[in-house]
Amino acid sequence: MRREGVESMSKPLVAITGASSGIGAATAREFSAAGHPVLLMARRLDRMQAMNLPDALCCAVDVRDRDQIRQAVAAAEDRFGPTDMMFANAGVGRFADIGRQPPEEWDEMIDINTKGVMNTVHAVMPGMMERRTGTLILMSSIAGRKVYPDHTVYCGTKFFVHAVGESLRAYLSAYDVRVLVVSPGVIDTELLSGVRDKETLAAYNEGKAKMGGGIGADIVAQLIHDAYRLPQRALVQEICLTPTRQGY
Ligand code: NDP
Repeated sequence: MRREGVESMSKPLVAITGASSGIGAATAREFSAAGHPVLLMARRLDRMQAMNLPDALCCAVDVRDRDQIRQAVAAAEDRFGPTDMMFANAGVGRFADIGRQPPEEWDEMIDINTKGVMNTVHAVMPGMMERRTGTLILMSSIAGRKVYPDHTVYCGTKFFVHAVGESLRAYLSAYDVRVLVVSPGVIDTELLSGVRDKETLAAYNEGKAKMGGGIGADIVAQLIHDAYRLPQRALVQEICLTPTRQGY
């Protein structure tokens, strides 16, 4: 259903948080190339605008602020119609030795990776339930399936996403709304720029080098798009994607 005055588009709106770099940016490019209007949300507005995607609305949003997400979604829906897919992707990885990590880093991961995901879901879930269609894609990690050294709180936040994803999937199935949880392994993005613990960073990079490096964010984006474009009554519940040589 399109509201009057809405720009005429053949494909529905997709919305993405953490769209200013890495997997979020790659996913925005992928869906845009397929003809979808896109809502890009992150704090670095200039980075999203520089992508120069057609039929795109870029909004400076901090996912810790529920109102900012809600306003961005409302503005995009006014222009492009209802959100058919929301990718709750924004996240930070402050990997560190838990015994010496400042608790402020715990707070940051918990606020962005867990509450931020819930704030993002909240902005579109009632509309999807009312329309009885839609797809929620939640970004977890392979660290949401098993624990890794120096990933203590990060793993906690990603296990949270898995648990919420399972529960939401069951709840929303009655409304024909799909819930897909994405769990990548080592992907080449800017995520590691947030690691301040030098020893942890060195160990991570050593493991990454041993596996021949990470894989490109564009591969994650393509897989998400492939899963999304299945018929609405078919659901890929989870994607777990790692470099072949990761092996853990
Ligand atoms: P990047 O650092 O490249 O991207 C992270 C994105 O999240 C950026 O666009 C950043 O934008 C955004 N972001 C961070 N904090 C906030 C905030 N408070 N409000 C809004 N946006 C925010 O890393 P990735 O692409 O790798 O990360 C994307 C997701 O993928 C994360 O959830 C991460 O945990 C997950 N992941 C990544 C893996 C990897 O190996 N790279 C593996 C498994 C999961 P800005 O700073 O402009 O706000």
